[in-house]
Amino acid sequence: MSSNRLTGSSDGASRPAAPATLLLRGVEKRFGDVVAVGSISLTVRQGETVALLGPSGAGKSTMLRLMAGEIEPTSGVIELSGRELANLAPGRELASLVGMIHQQFDLVPNLSALQNVLAGRLGEWGFFRSLVSLAAPLEREVAMAALRRLGVEDRAGLRAGRLSGGEQQRVAIARVLVQGPALILADEPVASLDPARAEEVLDLLVGLAERDGRTLVASMHSVVMARQRFGRLIGLRNGELSFDLPAQEVTDGMLESLYALEGLRAET
Ligand code: ADP
Repeated sequence: MSSNRLTGSSDGASRPAAPATLLLRGVEKRFGDVVAVGSISLTVRQGETVALLGPSGAGKSTMLRLMAGEIEPTSGVIELSGRELANLAPGRELASLVGMIHQQFDLVPNLSALQNVLAGRLGEWGFFRSLVSLAAPLEREVAMAALRRLGVEDRAGLRAGRLSGGEQQRVAIARVLVQGPALILADEPVASLDPARAEEVLDLLVGLAERDGRTLVASMHSVVMARQRFGRLIGLRNGELSFDLPAQEVTDGMLESLYALEGLRAET
C-alpha cells in the first residue's frame, strides 16, 4: 500500500486529511410523518468540541447519523470541507473525513482488540483487507500505538467480547483514532460507563480531539460533563435548535427549558 494514510504519527493517530468545516444548511430529516430533525442550519469549525444535548427523542442520534453520511437528509445540504457529503464516495474517502463512535461501540466480539482497531484503518469497505493487513508490521504498529495511547495495549490480543465496557469504549476510540478522520462523531460515548470511568474516557476523547486539532461532535446524556468538557453546546428539542452557544454562556434556565416535559413530543 502506498497510501499516505500509512504515515500515521507514531502515537497511533493519522493526521486529519484536511481541515473540516461542517456546514448544515436547512437540513431536515423525516421518518414518515415524524420530523426527526427540523430545518437546521449551523456551522462547526475545525477543532471545535461540540456537545449535542436534549431529551430522549430530540433528534440527537439522527443529527449525528446525518453528519456521518449514514443517512441522507430529506431536504437541505450537508457540506464537509466544502464538499457535499452526499457526493463523497462511501469507504475510504468518507472514512478519512468522518468517523463515528456508536453507542454500542460496534466492535466485532470474536476478533481481538487489535484486529478491531485495524479495521478502522481502511473504513468498513476494507474490513477484510484490514484483517489481512495483520501481516503488515507498520499497520500493526500504528494500531498498537493507538491502543497504548488509550491505555489498553495489554488487551490487544484479547477478544473484544471479553473486555469490560470501559475497555471496549477505549478500543472503539482507538479504532477511530487510527482511521484518522478530521471529524469525530460520537453517540453518547460514555453513557454506558460508570461515572468515574465515564469522566476518564470522556477526558481521553476530548483531550485527543483537542491535541490533534480534530473536530468532535458528541451527543451527551450528562449535562454536567458536557458543560465541563465541551467548548460549545447545542440544545435540541423536538428536532429544533433550542440554543447553540459557547458552553459558558448556557444558563441553568436554558437547560431547564430544554428538558421540560411540557410540550415535548412523544417518542415514536
Ligand atoms: P435522540 O437521539 O435525541 O433520542 P433520535 O434522533 O433517535 O433522538 O430520534 C428523533 C425522532 O425520530 C424520534 O421521534 C424517533 O422516534 C424518530 N426516529 C429516529 N430514527 C427513526 C427511524 N429509523 N424510523 C422512524 N423514526 C425514527
